[in-house]
Amino acid sequence: CGIIGYIGDKNAIQIVLDGLKKLEYRGYDSAGIACLLNGKIKTVKCKGKIKNLESLVDDSLKQSKIAIGHTRWATHGKPSDENAHPHCSGSIALVHNGIIENYAEIKKELQTEGYKFVSQTDTEVIAHLIRKYRENNLSLEDSIRKAVSRLRGSYAIVIMDDKEPDKLIGVRMESPLVVGISDGEKFIASDVPAFLNHCNKALFLEDGEMIVLNKEGFRVYNLEGKEKKKTPITITWTA
Ligand code: GLU
Repeated sequence: CGIIGYIGDKNAIQIVLDGLKKLEYRGYDSAGIACLLNGKIKTVKCKGKIKNLESLVDDSLKQSKIAIGHTRWATHGKPSDENAHPHCSGSIALVHNGIIENYAEIKKELQTEGYKFVSQTDTEVIAHLIRKYRENNLSLEDSIRKAVSRLRGSYAIVIMDDKEPDKLIGVRMESPLVVGISDGEKFIASDVPAFLNHCNKALFLEDGEMIVLNKEGFRVYNLEGKEKKKTPITITWTA
């Protein structure tokens, strides 16, 4: 339902928790975050309110400079700690808004190949698919492209990989995704209010676009991997 990601030099966990609160108006049944600390992905997620999530976050995580967060409105799988996002597989963690219509057939295929599922969500197939292609020696970007080419339905996805600790990647198909651009830090969210406190330059993704973010810059591609030029706009309204 709600997505916020951050990469920069500040306390990523705090920025992501604050961003999730700004998205609370959309409604949700569970919430979660993932961040990178000492080269490893740490995930905290739970059913219920962002306040519960906040109370579960260890202070040590506040040193992290890259994080993603999600508020979930369950479509596949009941509201529960396990079904809350982020979903992880191997070095990958991701959050997803939307519905993967063909998840059941992909899940069956992945289970046959030995992938273990820990949730009942449609989302978890995306994490395992990206991992599978990644472990076939594709780059993170190519693995994501190949994974989303398998998906039918709607998705805004934001992905982290502990093997690429300086990157956040977003992909949009029929579910909103907007990027906040500021010097030395970047935001990615389902809606502008999630980062409007921090920056007012925004780039709205269109269907079939993928964005690769690092602290210093961004690159936008189509799903064939061809780079596209896009210019941020200045948001003149306030939260
Ligand atoms: N379909 C996903 C799930 O049920 C995402 C729901 C959402 O957009 O919050 O976990």
